[in-house]
Amino acid sequence: MSDGRIIVIGGGAAGMMAAGQAAARGAEVILIEKMNRLGSKIAISGKGRCNLTNAGDIADFVKFYPGNGKFLYASLKEFDNQQLIEFFQQYGVKTKIERGGRVFPETDEAEAVVKALKRFLAKTGVKIILGKTVKELILEEKRNGIGLRLTPNREVLKADAVIVATGGVSYPGTGSTGDGYLFAEKVGHKVINPLPSLVPLRTLEQWPKELKGLALKNVEASIWVDGVRKDKEFGEMLFTHFGISGPVILTLSRIASNALQTKKKVEVKINLKPALTTEQLDLRLQRDFNKYHNKQLKNSLEDLLPKSIIPIIVRLSEIQPEKIINQLNKEERKRLCRLLQELSLTVTGTLGMGTAIVTSGGVDVKQINPTTMESRLIKGLYWAGEVIDVDGITGGYNLQAAFSMGYKAGKAAAEYIISTA
Ligand SMILES: Cc1cc2nc3c(=O)[nH]c(=O)nc-3n(C[C@H](O)[C@H](O)[C@H](O)COP(=O)(O)OP(=O)(O)OC[C@H]3O[C@@H](n4cnc5c(N)ncnc54)[C@H](O)[C@@H]3O)c2cc1C
Repeated sequence: MSDGRIIVIGGGAAGMMAAGQAAARGAEVILIEKMNRLGSKIAISGKGRCNLTNAGDIADFVKFYPGNGKFLYASLKEFDNQQLIEFFQQYGVKTKIERGGRVFPETDEAEAVVKALKRFLAKTGVKIILGKTVKELILEEKRNGIGLRLTPNREVLKADAVIVATGGVSYPGTGSTGDGYLFAEKVGHKVINPLPSLVPLRTLEQWPKELKGLALKNVEASIWVDGVRKDKEFGEMLFTHFGISGPVILTLSRIASNALQTKKKVEVKINLKPALTTEQLDLRLQRDFNKYHNKQLKNSLEDLLPKSIIPIIVRLSEIQPEKIINQLNKEERKRLCRLLQELSLTVTGTLGMGTAIVTSGGVDVKQINPTTMESRLIKGLYWAGEVIDVDGITGGYNLQAAFSMGYKAGKAAAEYIISTA
């Protein structure tokens, strides 16, 4: 048993895992959380069901983190998705696998994940302080010298090692308000501009509002910056009163978020019929138009499209909705065809940090050792979780990253304490 004391700042996924892992190795650990409860963000994750990881091959994981995936190699290897699933099983949470390998608690309760982590903290003997905010990291010259100033009464706590797991700056109502970035900058760490990611997009066009609530499955959405296609995603999207959302849009939003910073032109183009080539779609239209040759255009697209989107497509095609199909010329049919495969929207902004699922940006990975999560600048200072400039797509990857980094940081901090005791 070591005499060393580790303080973990932030009782989210990364902080709780870090604290428990450090305590399990014999260190005295204090976990400080500014909210009056632990795991606020976990509790609302996955729409209250918590998609805690993904069942896919861990060797493939890195590519699902557009933000610095390679930084995660070591932590994902040390504490992978199977170990995470076993860990939760051990603490009372059985899991199930859903579409796309998404792993959820069998009971569909995110709160069960928080409870399991609390059991882990209790078992390992972590001291928990709730409702106190760390305001400042105080570095001292000599070893054993990282202090923390807490509010409300400016009390100072000393530690031999500190793990900062304060999260990003998205969904600030859960407690993650970017405090870790301030600590980082104060002690000389570089912070990459935090931006909202996995966030719905606002559009210049107002017609999505008319389709509010319409979810489209099996579409392909591509994102274009200054006329150049940057990425495309296949899956489900949603129209909303402000623009567009849904899984494919959230995934593409990271590129939009970045490009909008430098005032670039951002467009999303939706292919409503991605399984068909242009020629195949044209043939399909011809077939449908033969069938409905005496009908008005507005009444002849129902075999092809959800009912609510038909008036929009017809309006955008600038063809009279009442035009009888057998009077449509080839150019008009081709125009419809193009619209169905390239429904363009101009992106004017994101819905912002308040609704972003993750923050891209954060403490620069170059100044953190990925095999220990220790600062390359300050001995005894560790970082873990979303506070670091790492972000993944939806599917359980962000929580897995937070848990894996937390595991690594907790273990490494304990080993450091023990080796220097
Ligand atoms: C709505 C929503 C749904 C999501 N769903 C999923 C999902 O299903 N699957 C998935 O993989 N990811 C999901 N995510 C993302 C995932 O929840 C986060 O990436 C992950 O929780 C980050 O964990 P963390 O421990 O790094 O940070 P956080 O969970 O943000 O924890 C940081 C903690 O630090 C505390 N704190 C901050 N500053 C201080 C301070 N100064 N002093 C003391 N305490 C402080 C905060 O109160 C907070 O509790 C979702 C996110 C949101 C917003």
